[in-house]
Amino acid sequence: MTENRQDEIKEKKMDELYRVIIKPRLEENRETLCKDLRKIDLIKNDVKIINTKRIKSGLVVEMKRKEDGDKIIDLIKTNTEDGKYIVETLTKRKPQIILYGLNNEITKEELENCLIKQNDIEKEDFVIVHNYKVKYGTNWICEVNGKSFKKLVGWRKVNIGFEKIKVREYLKPRQCFKCWRYGHKGKDCKNKKICVRCGDDDHDNENCQKNIMCANCNYQNVKFNRNIDSKHSPNDLNCPCLQNEIKKVKKYIYYG
Ligand SMILES: [Zn+2]
Ligand SMILES: [Zn+2]
Ligand SMILES: [Zn+2]
Repeated sequence: MTENRQDEIKEKKMDELYRVIIKPRLEENRETLCKDLRKIDLIKNDVKIINTKRIKSGLVVEMKRKEDGDKIIDLIKTNTEDGKYIVETLTKRKPQIILYGLNNEITKEELENCLIKQNDIEKEDFVIVHNYKVKYGTNWICEVNGKSFKKLVGWRKVNIGFEKIKVREYLKPRQCFKCWRYGHKGKDCKNKKICVRCGDDDHDNENCQKNIMCANCNYQNVKFNRNIDSKHSPNDLNCPCLQNEIKKVKKYIYYG
């Protein structure tokens, strides 16, 4: 009984990951990094780390609690020469899921209840982030911890009232609606407005009759002399540029 309870608590803490990246400022200090780190007594300082990884430029230390990350940063500062190492932090966020086409009448509270009571998800294991109307109902986005993510995405459908609702991972790289490139929003765009259908920049897409061409894939072909099939919309889920962006987004998600 006691053992079970411990497991539960452990799992609930598995929803975020903090990483501290330690890089020697000068290449010649690469050798001394491990030696310097050995001087730091993790046990005495009550720092819990779950993993360390060597990377080309230094070392990545992973932990579950932010306070452990803060402690490591402090300990490196006080135990090594000033400025010898650059210390950076990176927090991975929780995964998100999308529930497709729910009845428009369903409220946030009702959805919460259905997830808990009909699908055996614990209240602490998810947060409803936002929703938006689509042609056939409302799509809802929830942030979930690793445990619930595996469960829900594994099932592919959840019970909401009398319905079975499709559920998938929600991964949306930031894409500009003006030039269709990634990494910025339309309001910050400095590029020309591009036709979403044909990729040209001299007309609006509403009446465009030209052949479909993805501006992002075409750019890759022209700029890097590639040979990617560009006969699709820049919103197409199979677009290689979009797939590449999704891969990048996934690096910042902790699946637990
Ligand atoms: Zn843009
Ligand atoms: Zn066009
Ligand atoms: Zn494309």
